[in-house]
Amino acid sequence: MSDHAARQASGRYVPPPITGEDYPLSAEQKSLLGLAEELGRTRFAERAARYDREASFPFENYADMRDAGLLKLCVPKRYGGLGADYATYCIVSAAIGRHCGATALTFNMHACSQLWSGLLADDLEMTADQRAIHEQYRARHYRRVVEEGSIYAQPFSEGSAAAAGKAPFGTLAEKTDGGWVVNGRKIFASLSGAAHYYGVLCTEDKPDRSMRDTLYIAVPADAPGLSITGDWDPLGMRGTVSRNLVFKDVFVADHEQLMPRGVYYQAAARWPHMFLTLAPTYMGIAQAAYDFTIAYLRGEVPGTPPVKRRMYPTKQIAVAEMRIRLEQTRALFLHVIREARIDPPKDARLRLYAAQYTIMENSNDLCRLALRTCGGQSMLKSLPLERLYRDSRCGALMLPWTAELCMDRIGREALYEPGESDD
Ligand SMILES: Cc1cc2nc3c(=O)[nH]c(=O)nc-3n(C[C@H](O)[C@H](O)[C@H](O)COP(=O)(O)OP(=O)(O)OC[C@H]3O[C@@H](n4cnc5c(N)ncnc54)[C@H](O)[C@@H]3O)c2cc1C
Repeated sequence: MSDHAARQASGRYVPPPITGEDYPLSAEQKSLLGLAEELGRTRFAERAARYDREASFPFENYADMRDAGLLKLCVPKRYGGLGADYATYCIVSAAIGRHCGATALTFNMHACSQLWSGLLADDLEMTADQRAIHEQYRARHYRRVVEEGSIYAQPFSEGSAAAAGKAPFGTLAEKTDGGWVVNGRKIFASLSGAAHYYGVLCTEDKPDRSMRDTLYIAVPADAPGLSITGDWDPLGMRGTVSRNLVFKDVFVADHEQLMPRGVYYQAAARWPHMFLTLAPTYMGIAQAAYDFTIAYLRGEVPGTPPVKRRMYPTKQIAVAEMRIRLEQTRALFLHVIREARIDPPKDARLRLYAAQYTIMENSNDLCRLALRTCGGQSMLKSLPLERLYRDSRCGALMLPWTAELCMDRIGREALYEPGESDD
């Protein structure tokens, strides 16, 4: 029996895959998507409330992902990884996000450390020497992930204009024999206390510091001089445990570089889809809010009385509104993840910002509509909807492409060609 037929035969609402039923996927994509959906449904979903309540890191989910091989999702195949391309990563991430937002969001930081140093870096210009050294360094990073199950984080934010891509990072790396001495502070470092390596962005400490001198380097969690500070008691995405990192004269060896000197700046300018990778988590949450609403109105949510509410026209209209918004969001998501490449045309760039904006804002809006439509009992802590609502609120706040900054970029870049001004 096909998946579709099995769904129909169950007599209950069975959520479709995150891509929608019958979306064209390769056999490999189907299998990875199936694996992520299965882990999410059978393991992550039931644990999500506890991580949220405790604001604790989803260690069990990471152990499951490690066992299933998902931690090496974006490690290229020739290094022993699964070699997922950009679109495959996005689909898998969205499938996880549907069951545990904090797991998907932190998985983004981990997986993208390999995606960016892997297939994305392959597209960038490097000298032959840079390429050879990068090859050597990344082999070490990938070996840790493949053989030791190491986890990487991406703490970039500092509470300044740097994470928005508007100023050099204040965390400084001073060149020394065999490596770098790092000093500075990062805020909102997801996976703090859980990651084995923190892939930080810092600025080379030299006169006339510029954004071109951004260095992307992994600081081992046990490096002397690195400490984790501050509380973590936020509105949503509580399982990400995004505390502060303080670097005080931390020595980091040359081989910890995730990209050669100066190459991150090129990546940020030429491979803009690298900043959409937070959005799949919220695509998953949008789908989860819709799924919950359908099951709830049909009286099928486990642990609740089998009371149907689907017969009221107002509910049907609200569900129609949600479905339309979900389809708009998904269509844009599936479209842009296939457009990822170096130097995309302006048209694709504008669509990319629009997709980021749409996914982040619609995810929260779908959760809002879900709560309004399902009613008072649906917001109890014993059910997932109120958590989805809180988690979804975080998406549009995330730099470098907050909802506001997406609007800024679309408006400006639509009206001006590079170098144009009205002076
Ligand atoms: C759950 C969660 C997990 C996170 N995990 C990580 C992580 O792992 N790594 C990481 O690096 N960061 C992480 N962040 C941080 C995130 O990306 C943002 O840096 C953070 O939310 C920004 O907060 P802020 O108030 O300091 O931003 P501010 O810099 O104070 O900006 C506030 C708002 O002003 C607007 N703004 C900022 N700069 C400009 C500008 N130049 N022009 C116009 N408008 C502007 C933006 O819309 C922004 O939302 C996480 C955030 C959350 C909520």
